[in-house]
This record gives sequence, C-alpha cells and structure tokens, in this order.
Amino acid sequence: MKNDKAIVVFSGGQDSTTCLFWALKNFKEVEAVTFDYNQRHRLEIEVAKDIAKELGVRHHILDMSLLNQLAPNALTRDDIEVKAGEDGELPNTFVPGRNLLFLSFAGVLASQVGAKHIITGVCETDFSGYPDCRDIFVKSLNVTLNLSMDQTFVIHTPLMWINKAETWKLADELGALDFVRERTLTCYNGIIADGCGECPACKLRKAGLDQYMDSLKEGIE
Ligand SMILES: [Zn+2]
Repeated sequence: MKNDKAIVVFSGGQDSTTCLFWALKNFKEVEAVTFDYNQRHRLEIEVAKDIAKELGVRHHILDMSLLNQLAPNALTRDDIEVKAGEDGELPNTFVPGRNLLFLSFAGVLASQVGAKHIITGVCETDFSGYPDCRDIFVKSLNVTLNLSMDQTFVIHTPLMWINKAETWKLADELGALDFVRERTLTCYNGIIADGCGECPACKLRKAGLDQYMDSLKEGIE
C-alpha cells in the first residue's frame, strides 16, 4: 500500500480528519475530496480547506448542490430546524443515499487522479442509522465501482468497527489528537473544536473523548 495513491472523503470533521492522518501514514500520495452541498454551515468547507492546506494535501471540492433538490432537510435548508433522532432513529438531517452518491463520485475522481485506494470514515458503531454507511454496503459498492470502471479500487473504512473513544485513540496513535481536537468541526451549530457542547454531535464527540481520557488515566494508575 505504501507506494500507492489514495483519496480520502473529507468533511473537516473529527472522523474524516482522523482518516486523513491514517491515509498519510499508510500511502505514498494522498488527496482529499470534499462535497459542497450548501451545508448549513459554510464554515465546514473552509475548515476542510484549511486542514488540507496545512497537511499539504491536494484538495478537490465537488459541487453537490443538487442534493438540495433531492432532499428537503435541515442540514441544507435553513427553514427547517435540525432535530436529533432518538436512540437508533435517523435524525431529520438524513439525505437518503447520500453516502452512495459521495462514494460513487469519489470513485470517479479516484479513477481520474489515478488513485487505487478510497478512504471513508463511515462507521457502524455509533451512528448506525445510515444504511449506506454499513460495512456490507461499502463492500457491495466497492465491487460495483470496480465493475463500472474496470478497475481494482480498494475502499478502506478505518473507523467502521470502532467507537468514538477508539477513534480518539486512533488519532492519538497517529500523533494527531491535539490537531483533531482543536482544528476539526463536528458541531451542528458550526463551532470549531469542542463546539457548542449542547448538540448531539458535540455530546457524542465529548463522551468519546472523556471515555478515552479516562482510559488513559486508568492505564497510569
Ligand atoms: Zn454542537
């Protein structure tokens, strides 16, 4: 893998930034792709741009504003309030098939830039409500992409089976804990780093970080 080129699906959040560091460790050449679908917080795109620039990664931003036409939802339309899903329920920010579209476009881009590997931070463990973030779906799409372009892409999902605490652990092992903590944007209210502390994304992120920090303390005692 060391001599290969990889492309990372990159939003500027905790998960995909950790994946970007993971890719930089494992591949010779790394590029990133961010999808612009008129996110409620334009800051997301700026955060992604800044991180890619700082890490010296070529950054592609693809216009996916057509998602607005397909899915009236709180993430892209400011006339609808963001409402979190209860346990196991999909939040109303859900765009059906969004990851299918993103990964497919990433595949086309990978083909164009000559990247064999595609990295995505999807995960079944914490937010398992999205059917196109499941391992079985990613494996299925990998086959489909290979058949559609007659290539041998390999889709990597370093976070698929780990929880938020273990994602922090991975960032730490990659020497990127502080970077990920201070520079990424996960918060639904558009506040970088530790965020607003109130929204579901912030709560999930903080719970994971607390759990990881506690595990470090236990290790020392
Ligand atoms: Zn927040």
